[in-house]
Amino acid sequence: MGTSLFPDSSNPKPLLVDGARLNKILLELAKYGRNDHGGIDRVSFSEADRNARQYVIELMKNAGLDVTIDAAANIIGRRKGNNADAKPIMLGSHIDSVPSGGNYDGQVGSAAAVEVAQILHENNQITRHPLEFVIFSNEEGGKTGSRAMAGEIETSELDIMTASGFTIGEGLRANSGDPDKLTKVKRLKGSIAGFLELHIEQGGILEKEGLTIGVVEGIVGIKRWSVTVKGFTNHAGTTPMTERRDSLVAAAQFIQAVHRIAKNMSGRQVATVGKITPEPGAPNVIPGRTSLTLEIRDLDMVIIDNLFKVLVKESKLIGEETGTQFAFDQFYLSKAALTDDLFRKVIEEETEKLGFSYTRMPSGAGHDAQSIAQLAPVGMIFIPSLGGISHSPKEKSRSKDIEAGANVLLQSLLTLDHQLS
Ligand SMILES: [Zn+2]
Repeated sequence: MGTSLFPDSSNPKPLLVDGARLNKILLELAKYGRNDHGGIDRVSFSEADRNARQYVIELMKNAGLDVTIDAAANIIGRRKGNNADAKPIMLGSHIDSVPSGGNYDGQVGSAAAVEVAQILHENNQITRHPLEFVIFSNEEGGKTGSRAMAGEIETSELDIMTASGFTIGEGLRANSGDPDKLTKVKRLKGSIAGFLELHIEQGGILEKEGLTIGVVEGIVGIKRWSVTVKGFTNHAGTTPMTERRDSLVAAAQFIQAVHRIAKNMSGRQVATVGKITPEPGAPNVIPGRTSLTLEIRDLDMVIIDNLFKVLVKESKLIGEETGTQFAFDQFYLSKAALTDDLFRKVIEEETEKLGFSYTRMPSGAGHDAQSIAQLAPVGMIFIPSLGGISHSPKEKSRSKDIEAGANVLLQSLLTLDHQLS
């Protein structure tokens, strides 16, 4: 206990992944569901998804893992540790895609996890903790696999139709899961020592700043509201400009205010009006009612609430000025999930030791780590997405960054194996 796998004197070289092999796995994976645009159509539960899963299962078996599929169709490759009392450390990601997706989202983290298993196997490195390498099912269609582990799946979700043509329930069955036994997938809080996920950034910050690694501080929380602006419907020809109570004009001012206020506040909050419907919606009628959506995201739910309060106040001023009334109705909530302090620190230290540049950053997109954060401390490692493009055939990450991320994943795992109880 306490002895490093790489004592400074005798073995200064850390164990490293095989970058060429890792990138070859990604090229192989890209064949499953490849489309004419250079990306993939590998939505969860599709034939391409099933075949890609089989490919990964073979890789896992070759890496000496004991592979099972749980009732939520998560693929789990287990590796024994040498401390019988230790809880498992989990690492993994997903290999399903959005329709017309790219070759990196989820796949980088999945391939890297498999490569980590392979390199440990080849080098006969036994960790203290047992390890679980997980390919979570249906990430893009609602994080079914990871949310089932967190005990969050509602029975009604099983009837949701997916892009594969199967409902989630049917899809789970087709992928060797069992929708009737989802409760068995649930893990108890504290039963996992920790979870690590490598993922592409899906934004453009790392590339823009010329950095290799993003140490994820957490996955942002999201709140969404329907906003209704009530004015007065009237004739567009006979109503003088001074007499109008135009809900669309008020909504336009509100949209400007959302953008301006969110941008001028310090911090990294983002706020968006993504949909607007004026009624009745005719060229010769002053819109008496306009509906729009408001979405705010931040790592800190308090910041979301405070920004919302400022925007409500602003809407009152706009309402007074335009003779309209604003009403807000919250319809969506996704709580922020913070990564663990120790995990961040270890990822940073290992990144530095390997000689890569890094920054701390939030994740604006959702990930399986968000679900697992409810059960265990989690850490997330980002690598650059070229052009900040994702969920597109144009999604791309450099081979050397993928290798760098996988090495940070491997070294962080080995260090956490020593530091976690
Ligand atoms: Zn993903």
